[in-house]
Formats: sequence, C-alpha cells, structure tokens
Amino acid sequence: MTRRCCLGLVATGLINTHLSADEVDGSNQANRTRTLSTSKVAPGRVKTKWATEYRVGRFQVHSDAPMVASKSSPAGEFVQAAAAGQAATSSQLDHKKVAAELIAVQRDVERTLKIQPAESTIHVVLFHAEHEYNRYLSAYFPKLPRRRALYLQDRGPGMLFAYWHADLLEDLRHEVVHAVVNDEGQSPPIWLDEGVAEYFEVPAGQRFAGSPHLPAVVAKCNDATSPSLAGLAKVKSMAEFTEGYYRDSWAWVHFLLHRNRPLRRQLVRYLADLRSGTPVEPLEKQLQRTCPDLHQQFVAHFRHFASRQG
Ligand SMILES: [Zn+2]
Repeated sequence: MTRRCCLGLVATGLINTHLSADEVDGSNQANRTRTLSTSKVAPGRVKTKWATEYRVGRFQVHSDAPMVASKSSPAGEFVQAAAAGQAATSSQLDHKKVAAELIAVQRDVERTLKIQPAESTIHVVLFHAEHEYNRYLSAYFPKLPRRRALYLQDRGPGMLFAYWHADLLEDLRHEVVHAVVNDEGQSPPIWLDEGVAEYFEVPAGQRFAGSPHLPAVVAKCNDATSPSLAGLAKVKSMAEFTEGYYRDSWAWVHFLLHRNRPLRRQLVRYLADLRSGTPVEPLEKQLQRTCPDLHQQFVAHFRHFASRQG
C-alpha cells in the first residue's frame, strides 16, 4: 500500500454497512472494541468505546489505544501507548503533534484556496498498527481499494482513517486536504483533488521547492515534456490513478498556484464554483482557452527550478 486517497461513498455505492465495532474482532475486550457514529447509525444506539477520544477544532479524534502521559516527554505532552506491553516513542505517537497538524493544514488549505471555514465534524480514526487498520476497513468497507490512509465522505460526517507509522503526519495532512476541499458542493475531479492533497502533504516550509515530486518534474521539463492535463482529467477512478498520476497532478497544482496570480485566481474560482454548485466548464478546458501557451508556461515554470538548483 502506498498512496492515500479520497473516496466519495455516495457516488461509488461503497457504503453498505454501519460502523459497529464488536464484529470486527469478535471480542469484547474494552481496548479492542470500537464504534464510530455515522449518519447510518442512530446516535442513541451507539456506544463509544474508543480507548482515546478528543476534540480539536472540527476534528473528533478516535484512537484504539489509550493515551497516557509520557514520563520521557516534556510535561503536558501526551503520547499514545501502543499495543499492550509495547513502549511508544513520543516522536512516533504524539497526539499533541497530531492535533496541531490537523488544525494547521486545515487553515493552510483554507487560506491558500480561499475556502470559507466550515464547522461540520470530521472524524479522524487512528489505529495503533497497520493490521488493526486493515482489519477494521476489511470488516466495514470490504470493497474499498487498499490505501495507506483514506478519507471517506458520506452524506454524514467525513471520516479519515490512518494508522501510526513514521509518516503519519504526512498522511494526515494529505487526507485533511481531501476533507476540506470535499466539504461542500461538487467534488473536484480526481486529478485536482489528489494534486492539491499532494501539494499540502509536505510540511509548509517545503511546499514551494521541497516536494519529492519536484526533481522528476523538472527533469521532464528539461526535455520540454509536460504531463497531459487532458489525459489526467480522463482518469475517473481511484483504481486507475497510479503513482505517476499523483506526481503529474501535483505538478499541475504547483504550476497553477505559483506560476502567476491570474492562474492562481482561476484555480480558486473554479473550486469556489464547484462548492457553490455552479455549473462549471472543466478546468482543463478553461485553461486551454485562457492560456494558449499552457505547455510552454508549464515547462518554463519548472525549468526555473532547474536554474535555481544549478
Ligand atoms: Zn489522496
């Protein structure tokens, strides 16, 4: 499993079960049972059994392992205890960092893309280990493609699923972007949804010139090659959305955000039109019309980075 993704469950028909935890592992151990309320479950019938739950901004975090104060980490800082008997390290399992990152990336996305802050709840479900994450998703969403983290959007609250590992914060940033840009109205096309998520998934200070995608895109542009935006726009399912499409989508989003102000405004306006439900011409067609030398501008944009590196 490598990449992360966003799935609209209403559109795909994938939501065919409710989130009732006891069936997942067939046990009643208090620290193994989990229940997450969704619009499919009558609230009064739901018992919350997550070992750790807390609210930060619009995020309701649920975790399957107890959160304890760490003796080794600074006072007031919390870490999550991993599986029974296993010591958690504060660098890996720091809920304070998680909470700060959720809020920070949400604000970055809203500010950059001029998205009005929403108040609806986003559930963040964190598992202490990959096998628990897999078991949960297999039980409740057996038809979903396997990804390292997921954001699921039903008519009810958005749900973000991930597990603890070294790059957890990167995964959370990626999925929070999906949550913010899919909040209202019509979802963006896959390439744009994933491209924006790839852009924001790196720490804020690395977004302009520090993405791991950048060297490959610069190399292509040095050969005067730009990825086909029309080709990207034809990819209509996550199953077809392979690794190279993430890189190419990131490149187009980076180009639109940083090439010049008119292009950034065009991207922001397109996303606003989608959110408001305004019928809108596909962005790739708008760009062909408003920017006749799109390919040349794209290549020049990334060649600039080659000269910076040189
Ligand atoms: Zn994604």
